[in-house]
Amino acid sequence: MSQALWEQVVGHQPVLQRLVGECAHGRAAQGYLLTGPALVGKTLIARGLAQRLNCSGAAPPCGDCEGCRRVALGSPSHLLVIEPEEQGGSSVVKQRMHKVETIRRLLSETVLATTSGVVRVIVLRTAEVMHEVAAEAMLKTLEEPPTRTVFVLTSEQPDALRPTIRSRLRRLDCSAVPAQPIQEWLMAQHGVAAEAATVAAATCAGRPGLAWQFVTDAALLSLRQELLQQLGGLGERPPVTAIRLAARWCSDEGGGAGRRVEALLDWTEWWYRDAYVRCTTGERGHIVNVDAAAAVERFAARRGAAELRDGLTALQEARLALRRNVNAQLLLEVLWLRLARGARAGAAR
Ligand SMILES: [Zn+2]
Repeated sequence: MSQALWEQVVGHQPVLQRLVGECAHGRAAQGYLLTGPALVGKTLIARGLAQRLNCSGAAPPCGDCEGCRRVALGSPSHLLVIEPEEQGGSSVVKQRMHKVETIRRLLSETVLATTSGVVRVIVLRTAEVMHEVAAEAMLKTLEEPPTRTVFVLTSEQPDALRPTIRSRLRRLDCSAVPAQPIQEWLMAQHGVAAEAATVAAATCAGRPGLAWQFVTDAALLSLRQELLQQLGGLGERPPVTAIRLAARWCSDEGGGAGRRVEALLDWTEWWYRDAYVRCTTGERGHIVNVDAAAAVERFAARRGAAELRDGLTALQEARLALRRNVNAQLLLEVLWLRLARGARAGAAR
């Protein structure tokens, strides 16, 4: 017997309850906006919605009937998941965008009749990176949506979506998931050992998908360890080692450089946030890097709140620059030098 996709969702009970209620009363919307950080579970919820809308079982979504199975297999007659496409450019982290041609083609297909009785769910991931003209076409479609089609837009930055598009969608927020359910899920559903599950759940910033990557991708975990060591020693030793690391992370040997660079920015930001919280409130709980709490504390004690805030600003700027397609290695080097300089100034105070 197969499991329905909604049963695989970790956390997000209010979102699921609302969808269950709306579907049970025939009040599902034709357009949803699922917001929340990357890897938190938005797309899984959307795929589960497609099962619910196409299930012929006695207790939908059953996970077992023809409709549920087709959705789970990603049959395009039932479910389409559209990712933004990479643009050109020399940086390893390519700018991504929903292109005009793709969106137009997609929308023209939705006008054609769907397979009898099927509700087709179209998931547009990272919807905020949509070309202006594509957004215009999307808006027109949402104003007069084709029958038996449900659009689900997912977004990490819903404020970057056009207000006119947002207003046509029913918004559901998927916030960070507490560590405990993530830990229990890793152990019960995937047989992960208690210690590994505890660390992964605590250090994933509430994103079950990232916790899963931690337990399945040892290389990612060791990258994190390496980075935390560098952050702990920031300003005390020359940032040369860190710059060498940046070069290695950006080399696309073995693929996945884009993901590594994004992870690196996330981890550095969480480190600075942890230290900032520790520095300004003295709070020991609610930090992401629970396995490096002592190092965070030492770091916070050596730095002032102003320097930590500057570091967070530098990280925000680096993220924006990355989206504008600048060279990722150069960007990381400049960022490291800036953070190291700030750290040295902080230590001298
Ligand atoms: Zn079913």
